[in-house]
Amino acid sequence: MKQILKQLGINLTNSGASTGSNWLKSKGEEIQSFSPVDGKLIASVTSATSKEYHQVIKTAQTAFPIWRNIPAPKRGEIVRQIGEELRANKEELGKLVSWEMGKSLQEGLGEVQEMIDICDFAVGLSRQLHGLTMHSERTKHRMYEQWHPLGIVGIISAFNFPVAVWSWNAMLAWVCGDVCIWKPSEKTPLCAVACQNIASKIFANNNLPEGISNIIIGGPELGQLLSGDTKVPLVSATGSTRMGKAVGAAIGARLGRSLLELGGNNAIIITPDADLGIALVAAVFGAVGTAGQRCTSTRRLIIHESKYEAVKSKLKKAYGQLKIGDPLDQKNHVGPLIDKQAVKMYEAAIAEAKKTGGKILVEGGILKGKGYESGCYVKPCVIEAKNKMKIVQHETFAPILYIMKYKTIEEAVALQNGVVQGLSSSIMTTNMREAEAFLSTNGSDCGIANVNIGTSGAEIGGAFGGEKETGGGRESGSDAWKNYMRRQTNTINYGTDLPLAQGIVFNL
Ligand code: NAD
Repeated sequence: MKQILKQLGINLTNSGASTGSNWLKSKGEEIQSFSPVDGKLIASVTSATSKEYHQVIKTAQTAFPIWRNIPAPKRGEIVRQIGEELRANKEELGKLVSWEMGKSLQEGLGEVQEMIDICDFAVGLSRQLHGLTMHSERTKHRMYEQWHPLGIVGIISAFNFPVAVWSWNAMLAWVCGDVCIWKPSEKTPLCAVACQNIASKIFANNNLPEGISNIIIGGPELGQLLSGDTKVPLVSATGSTRMGKAVGAAIGARLGRSLLELGGNNAIIITPDADLGIALVAAVFGAVGTAGQRCTSTRRLIIHESKYEAVKSKLKKAYGQLKIGDPLDQKNHVGPLIDKQAVKMYEAAIAEAKKTGGKILVEGGILKGKGYESGCYVKPCVIEAKNKMKIVQHETFAPILYIMKYKTIEEAVALQNGVVQGLSSSIMTTNMREAEAFLSTNGSDCGIANVNIGTSGAEIGGAFGGEKETGGGRESGSDAWKNYMRRQTNTINYGTDLPLAQGIVFNL
């Protein structure tokens, strides 16, 4: 790990704020990053304080007019180089993600691949930031719209995707001509330092000024500074619904823009016509992958009564085969939770489910002994439950799967939609009528609705995000780039008269 930290430029002199290659000295608190894999200290950073925050804002403000005046395809070329640098560091960064966050090495590498993919996407996008033209109602007039950069984009991110979420936002924001200030999760500061170093190297190699790629590492107080700051026109915040409500309110109070990517409570419906082979793999991977710490993790299985017993026994068998342990060992399916606080929440959720009528199908529990010294390894658990139970309505960020029965497809969709969150959803069926009903206006109310694919994971080409308490934001692919720009409608009169709109006559 020492060698990897060295290659990624992580050393004891890193403080918690940087405007590019320049890491600012800070008198903030020390943030120690312990690996959930073995419980040992990896390294520390010094938290940024409000002093560094204001320094970073100033540098970003100075950099913005320079960056926005560079043609978009040339900005795309810089992002292309960042993608190349990520390719060169994929192995090391993927391992660091695994080590610091605890996800499997395959998923750590996959997360870096997602960053590379969004770089490629952003490069193409840099030549396509197009607006529409409209026909004017007035003669010799031309009307069209164009998109301009916004300014400083604040990015608040969660621990579970410690590198990809930043790139989804930053790469698009950069080709759009914005400058970024990233406030990563205080639980994964080293991944953030590594990303900042990778991007900064490219900006410096191209003789671009400090202030285009900025970072402030620390706790919620720094996120609050971003949310309340009128100098930051857009804050994109990924994390819990609790955080999103606070951030959304602060930004709303100053009429700024927010892009909120919050909690999910995702379900798979297993119909009588489901291919159970596909359904089972999707359900188990969705529930236990990343130890249930994905916003798109499968938390509920809604199973037709005719398949209920069959699915139950298959689940029991599949869970019996799961290997839990060191996520860097590819034989293991399930790694640790992020920290002991998460383990407590997992235990509390199971206790609450039992107390309020849940019936255990696969017993959970904390693993102890050799290989589990960090105290963060838990057994994936399956509970027969009712959708209306308070704990089922709540997103517990752990490998707990609630299963329930349904009779009609309408009832299944009502159960699927019967939670406050609206991120990802899925139906397992070979019956096209049911599939289309699920995708229709009367079907899933989520931002993501899949057929014969689980809830977990998404491709960068689509717009990602969810409805209701998931926050309504969309980032990554499709036209999500429009979030990072301001739209301007332009009307040009090339005639010799001044006809007014709506035929209004005003003679002087
Ligand atoms: P969290 O809400 O505890 O923290 C997320 C980030 O918000 C951190 O950087 C934190 O410092 C900051 N923060 C916390 N309170 C804040 C406040 N009041 N003001 C400003 N910033 C604040 O979330 P977490 O535990 O790191 O991540 C897990 C949560 O994130 C889950 O709910 C998960 O579903 C969600 N998540 C959602 C998506 C999505 O795209 N929808 C993606 C990943 C994670």
